[in-house]
Amino acid sequence: MLEKIPKSFIDELVLKTNIVDIVSSKIQIIKRGKNFYAICPFHNEKTPSFSISLEKQFYYCFGCNVHGNVIDFLMNYEKMSFLESIKELSMLNGMKIPTKNIKYKKQCEKIYYEKKKLHNILYKLSKKYINNIYEKKNVQVRKYLEKRGVRKDIIEKFSIGYSNNIKIITDKYAKQNKTLVNLLIKAGILYLNKNNTIYNRFVNRIMFPIKNSKGEINGFGARILTKSFPKYLNSPETKIFKKKENLYGINEVYKYNKLIKKLLIVEGYFDVITLFQNKIKYAVSILGTSININIIKKLFKISNTIIYCYDGDKAGKNASWKTLEISLPYIEDNKILKFIFLPKGEDPDSIIRKEGYKNFKIRIKNATPMSEFLFKKLLKKNDLSSPEKKTTFSRLAINMIQKIPGKIIKFFLRKKLIKKLGITKHDQRCLLIPKKYIYKKKKK
Ligand SMILES: [Zn+2]
Repeated sequence: MLEKIPKSFIDELVLKTNIVDIVSSKIQIIKRGKNFYAICPFHNEKTPSFSISLEKQFYYCFGCNVHGNVIDFLMNYEKMSFLESIKELSMLNGMKIPTKNIKYKKQCEKIYYEKKKLHNILYKLSKKYINNIYEKKNVQVRKYLEKRGVRKDIIEKFSIGYSNNIKIITDKYAKQNKTLVNLLIKAGILYLNKNNTIYNRFVNRIMFPIKNSKGEINGFGARILTKSFPKYLNSPETKIFKKKENLYGINEVYKYNKLIKKLLIVEGYFDVITLFQNKIKYAVSILGTSININIIKKLFKISNTIIYCYDGDKAGKNASWKTLEISLPYIEDNKILKFIFLPKGEDPDSIIRKEGYKNFKIRIKNATPMSEFLFKKLLKKNDLSSPEKKTTFSRLAINMIQKIPGKIIKFFLRKKLIKKLGITKHDQRCLLIPKKYIYKKKKK
């Protein structure tokens, strides 16, 4: 991407933009001497150590050492991609992005505007869904949400809506509104079946907009109001909606937390909403049942502490273990991974209703650290009653520990392993230390 946009243009863009204007439009700043200061948006602090230099057009935090120019700021604070921040700044300055490769430029612009169009139509649609809730005839929707205990302010905060009973789009309507209908098909709202009939994908469903971190709607999650199947339905994969990448509730997490100290990962829309309603405003839901590497990487970028709280059933337990296994290669020394195991048959939505905020807070506080879960699970399968069993256990544990990149956490896990095995003598300990550290006999 970098080589496609001339460096001179990027330099000019940075030069033309006043970083102080951009930063001050996002966070509160104060002037002190030549420089400007703010409470750092990237670490937790009470006195401002985030400095913005007008002269150097640069920011630097004396607390956490983050630094960069206006592009870096947009990328880190607004979670924009490099290209998005270039576009944003170009627009602000009324500059057009030049590129050596015209075809590539056109392609980029085409994708950008296509996505914009989809985001716009979903935004408009979401407004309509929201209005539907309050229509007189849709009393059953309001009753349902009431029954589930969702407060009115939460319905508004999460832009929850309702998609009505319209199943088929008539030919007449489709002909008269060709562009709109095509766009709604691209956005995954309508679909064409084999007989060329256009259907509404979401009939009689509560609609949960799935937003990105910036608040644009990428797709919808939808829950049926009646007893029919499937209970939950997501938007299909579109140019802006990827089931494996989106997180329900992420926009609200950014919006309502100045600093994301920890992130709670749950399985359902109602889990996120009920937790939020009970003052836990840092929960997001993965879409569908399975966690994947992309999401894990994304989560660790958002926060250093990730706590998984799956449903209290066998599937939830298995999901926790799978999560641990695939997270190992991403556990740096500053990353913390924890798990909450709920009682059988409970999910975060049900349990917090039963036991309230205070008790759920205790569950979060007492969440099982990755290290504890790892050894517990391996020991459950392999007790240490014989050398063979000890060997199997060691092999499994070492294999897993080796995958962790964090040197310090790896050291302590090895130490814990040695202790579990009851190895005390130094030379025996060598067995578990990587080859290169083992003393080699000199060749004769
Ligand atoms: Zn800082």
